[in-house]
Amino acid sequence: MKVIDKIRGASGNDGRTVFSFEFFPPKTEEGVENLFERMDRMVAHNPTFCDITWGAGGSTADVTLDIANRMQNMICVETMMHLTCTNMPVEKIDHALDTIKANGIQNVLALRGDPPHGQDKFVQVAGGFACALDLVQHIRAKYGDYFGITVAGYPEAHPDMIQEDGSATAEAYSNDLAYLKKKADAGADLIITQLFYDTDIFLKFVDDCRQIGITCPIVPGIMPINNYKGFLRMTGFCKTKIPSEILAALDPIKDNEEAVRAYGIHLGTEMCKKIMAHGIKTLHLYTLNMEKSALGILMNLGLIEESKVSRSLPWRPPANVFRV
Ligand code: FAD
Repeated sequence: MKVIDKIRGASGNDGRTVFSFEFFPPKTEEGVENLFERMDRMVAHNPTFCDITWGAGGSTADVTLDIANRMQNMICVETMMHLTCTNMPVEKIDHALDTIKANGIQNVLALRGDPPHGQDKFVQVAGGFACALDLVQHIRAKYGDYFGITVAGYPEAHPDMIQEDGSATAEAYSNDLAYLKKKADAGADLIITQLFYDTDIFLKFVDDCRQIGITCPIVPGIMPINNYKGFLRMTGFCKTKIPSEILAALDPIKDNEEAVRAYGIHLGTEMCKKIMAHGIKTLHLYTLNMEKSALGILMNLGLIEESKVSRSLPWRPPANVFRV
């Protein structure tokens, strides 16, 4: 089933908030088996869908395809597979799409992709695609309406547009939005955003998208802070703005992993509450293949049953340790 239909069905029925989990393909077979154990426990909480990332340039193609198939048909969760299109010949893209179609998967997150590890720039393969818009157009032209297509949106503009002062110019931001609208007009029916930590920036982005006529659901990508160094690395890579109060809260606890994780759960909970208060009823959690923080946030929000969390996880997030 298409994720967009599940999301529309949930909001049409009782307006309840729904959620999804993102995973990435582990490097070893043992890691893959561990991931499936964790995924099995997490899927017991009834996410609307789960998605699995695709290594830039097809570097994880076989593992991603295998995991996607097992997610859909063995874990039995509605599955969305990421697919990047640069540094990839069209035959490889079609092979991936044909494979997931044969396995009953109806959801693709269509991406340009970052340059492969060790390279600065992506390379357009001869006869291949240059951007996600090309991929969306290709999927619609070749596969009609079979796939639900999701695309990436950037509340702070794509990192390439962000200047040394940490912001995109107004012109770059509005060009980015206009390009996002092209992806939607070409057939994307859902947008998942890049991670952010300033909720006001996300809410403004949604308003700005609506202003220019983007009508599809825009799902916030929430990345719980699991550890301090990882948080700085990821926000640095994505050029994400970090509000000063978050840095101030983390500074005294940065060497205490449990305290950082507890703060991350608190922060994620407060961000989601504010987003939900603005009528946004779908949350996407970047799990980084970990369950505690994602489940902790959902439990605090009352979106999953506490009794199921304690049964599935020998750990509970400390309640109300931090106040906003
Ligand atoms: P595009 O949408 O094609 O473009 C990126 C930016 O470039 C646009 O925002 C726009 O500013 C500019 N641009 C590109 N083409 C045009 C054009 N024709 N006209 C005007 N402007 C243009 N990477 C992976 O390798 N694997 C993954 O699984 C993966 N999953 C992701 C999931 C999400 C939700 C997000 C937000 C990102 C993910 N990424 C992943 C990272 C992504 O590949 C990079 O951010 C990449 O640099 C851009 O991909 P895109 O699909 O946003 O590109």
